Amino acid sequence: MQKEYDTNNIFAKIIRGEIPCDKVYEDDKILAFNDINPKAPVHILVIPKGEYRSFDDFIAKASKEEVIYFFKKVQEIAKKKGVSKSGYRIVANHGKKAGQIVFHFHIHILGYN
Ligand code: 5GP
Repeated sequence: MQKEYDTNNIFAKIIRGEIPCDKVYEDDKILAFNDINPKAPVHILVIPKGEYRSFDDFIAKASKEEVIYFFKKVQEIAKKKGVSKSGYRIVANHGKKAGQIVFHFHIHILGYN
């Protein structure tokens, strides 16, 4: 598996504003936007702005504070979008064989309302 972070992956371009996205939430550390090809009534991608290739890379390299902040925001976004009560899944695909196609770490929030 490729180890280097590719600064030209599609989510890096979205973070830099080179490609538009349907933004749900943004601050200096994270960005959340609607998936272009939704697989559930609510399908949001949450990404850290740091350069991490996958879940494994994020957990290995990010600080504890960064990891906690990120996952707390995932929960907050799900709540704000109204799926906390109805139900949602969170998914992170790590590696090509597991279905990862964009090599910038992201969490899928799949909400059913
Ligand atoms: P993965 O399979 O890597 O876990 O998920 C990548 C996700 O990114 C897919 O669900 C795909 O639909 C979404 N995606 C790919 N390109 C774009 C894009 O340019 N904009 C948005 N909003 N989503 C994208």
